[in-house]
Amino acid sequence: MPLSSVAANASEQEVPYYQSVGNECAMFEQAFQQRLPLLLKGPTGCGKTRFVSHMAAKLGKPLFTVSCHDDLTAADLTGRYLLQGGETRWVDGPLTRAVREGGICYLDEVVEARKDVTVVMHPLTDDRRLLPLERTGELLEAPDDFMLVVSYNPGYQHILKSLKPSTRQRFVAMSFDFPPPQVERDIVARESGLPADQCAALVNLAASLRDMKGQDLEEGVSTRLLVYCATLIRAGMPIRDAARATLVEPLSDDADVQEGLMEAIQATF
Ligand code: ADP
Repeated sequence: MPLSSVAANASEQEVPYYQSVGNECAMFEQAFQQRLPLLLKGPTGCGKTRFVSHMAAKLGKPLFTVSCHDDLTAADLTGRYLLQGGETRWVDGPLTRAVREGGICYLDEVVEARKDVTVVMHPLTDDRRLLPLERTGELLEAPDDFMLVVSYNPGYQHILKSLKPSTRQRFVAMSFDFPPPQVERDIVARESGLPADQCAALVNLAASLRDMKGQDLEEGVSTRLLVYCATLIRAGMPIRDAARATLVEPLSDDADVQEGLMEAIQATF
């Protein structure tokens, strides 16, 4: 085998599988080339994180992913002085590393983070593309191959946890949702190894379970959970047990809601 094809195969293998649904790959690539920050909106488990890892690998850029939570502060992103071997040393956080080294910094569920995180995002998301590090006295200018990507789930939002217009309007934004049935079937089949016809039945079932969202359920069953379900079935678990453990229990603690979901499952399997 010629060397060049070995290299091509190797890099293909390193790109995580992502099945595109629309023009999201082209949009990401353009945003990267034009040095624009990107905001991804959508329910949990619909492929946002996989999309970002796929694109980072395709563009050949390092990816710095941070899952935001309500204790996450700006210092967790920028860095801090740490005591190491009796010496105090500055250690870059993931955002600073992406700015210094070039790469994509992905802040997942950014609305969860503390308010001071927006303070570091603002100068990075306008045309100055700057990261001031007060503690070290540095003012870092982001290189051309730095990109900030953030995501959030509009479904969870409440008044105290939403992105302010002054922050949202700094981003190119795209909405994600669960993929169309045939695409979702292919994703579930590819991820789990379960035959496509069985995956199609699971995807149909998901559609009826998703219709129950809003009545008693906060969120519809995700593509991630369908992959879990198919994986358990493929491993030999009885279908109804797999469905209960992946499509019912993770969604609700309420006995009536669970019963409603199980009825829909029993009507299919
Ligand atoms: P999110 O970040 O939106 O919460 P993830 O990207 O972690 O969701 O997706 C959850 C799982 O669903 C992935 O690990 C993958 O197995 C599967 N998945 C969802 N959408 C896609 C897609 N378009 N292509 C490939 N896999 C997908």
